[in-house]
Amino acid sequence: HAPDGPVARRIASAIPYYPYKGIPRFYDINGFLVRPDVFQLVIDVLAKRYAALEIDSIGGFDARGFVIGAPLALALKKPFFMLRKPGKQPNAVTSGAYEVEYGSRAGVSVPRGHPLSAEDPLKLSTVVKRGDRVLLVDDLVATGGTLAAGVELIHRLGARVAECACVVELKMFYDPPAGSGLPSRKALFEG
Ligand code: IMP
Repeated sequence: HAPDGPVARRIASAIPYYPYKGIPRFYDINGFLVRPDVFQLVIDVLAKRYAALEIDSIGGFDARGFVIGAPLALALKKPFFMLRKPGKQPNAVTSGAYEVEYGSRAGVSVPRGHPLSAEDPLKLSTVVKRGDRVLLVDDLVATGGTLAAGVELIHRLGARVAECACVVELKMFYDPPAGSGLPSRKALFEG
């Protein structure tokens, strides 16, 4: 939901052949992080949209989702939490492994609340509570594997994902032509 068209395309720098030669372009948010006016615009656009939506907390994906999610949470005065790689934060609930644009990842974890609730035998008293409406934030969506792992984990905690917000969308992964060999984000989320 960032501005579409030329503005959105210019908002992140495109670095060819990174992280390896088979990847034609790596969209790098460093391109606008050094421009406070553009960085502020990105946060303002998202804050405007999500001020109008009922959300209880904002989760940012490790690591570039932190950069976008944290200032957005401050702008909206909402609790922020980190969705980290497994083993990177103590006392956390972790998803299963999942596929992404560049291969597979071990999973994603959400911190539990502190202190743990003695009444909850499943120890699922995380920063995300049952019935919460959560906004998930990352810098970029390609296949949607990362977002889907986060959504599944939030659902496991009994909460709902109000929306997922990314600055860059790689449209080619949404509904790639049959036989292209690319995974379909549309099929992933419809499933
Ligand atoms: P997906 O899970 O396949 O949608 O890939 C999205 C995840 O990989 C996000 O966490 C992104 O940060 C990262 N990613 C994939 N491609 C790029 C890129 O071109 N630039 C920056 N991050 C990328």
